[in-house]
Amino acid sequence: MSTNRENNSLSANVIYDLTSFTHLDYPNHLSCIVWFSGCNMRCNYCYNKDIVFAKNGKYSYDDILDFLKTRVNLLEAVVLSGGEATSYDLVLFCRKIKELGFKIKLDTNGTNFLHVKELLELNLLDYIALDYKAPKAKFTQITHSNKFDEFSKTLDFLIGGTIEFEVRTTLHSDLLSVDDINEIIVDLKSRGYKNRYYIQEFLDTGVNIGDIKAPSKKLDRSLLCSDLEITFR
Ligand code: SF4
Repeated sequence: MSTNRENNSLSANVIYDLTSFTHLDYPNHLSCIVWFSGCNMRCNYCYNKDIVFAKNGKYSYDDILDFLKTRVNLLEAVVLSGGEATSYDLVLFCRKIKELGFKIKLDTNGTNFLHVKELLELNLLDYIALDYKAPKAKFTQITHSNKFDEFSKTLDFLIGGTIEFEVRTTLHSDLLSVDDINEIIVDLKSRGYKNRYYIQEFLDTGVNIGDIKAPSKKLDRSLLCSDLEITFR
């Protein structure tokens, strides 16, 4: 990370797109979503292919801050999503967002542990949605990255901290079995996770990184471990 942030430019066009209004993403908050270009993973089921492979985007940080100035008292929060927002140094951008009075939610795969930790220690985040992609043995097969241990540090840090957060998994039942999901639930429970666990069903948009199709079978929900409250999305 930069040691000279105040001089960092906010003019780089790293933001792929902006969703100017949603009430669905940040629980109980009217928000906008900032979609960062690029990602350090290549999840087979990812349908944000254009965002993941983008080198830059339509908007700069300054463009988003200008937009936010017009939404003071109209929106409550900003969701930083992507792609993987933590691929970028977010400190200055988050500070500016906070100065305008917005809360910040971060969607992350958790693989830039030190940056997430730094943002939390600076009190720049209000809510985190953390992806638990797969058990360690399947992590690389599904994400094409070897960063389970980094993700694991982020998860433990969040569990040990005070920020509101949720853990979620995208389920394609040809890629993750009941045993895999149960392994995740048992792992979460054993680490001390007490919140609701969200399972997002694979969305078949016809385009995804792994060129995969809809699952050939449905996961039998009755076989899921009951150690945590689970919500399907
Ligand atoms: S689903 Fe995977 S590849 Fe797609 S944006 Fe999220 S972490 Fe990146």
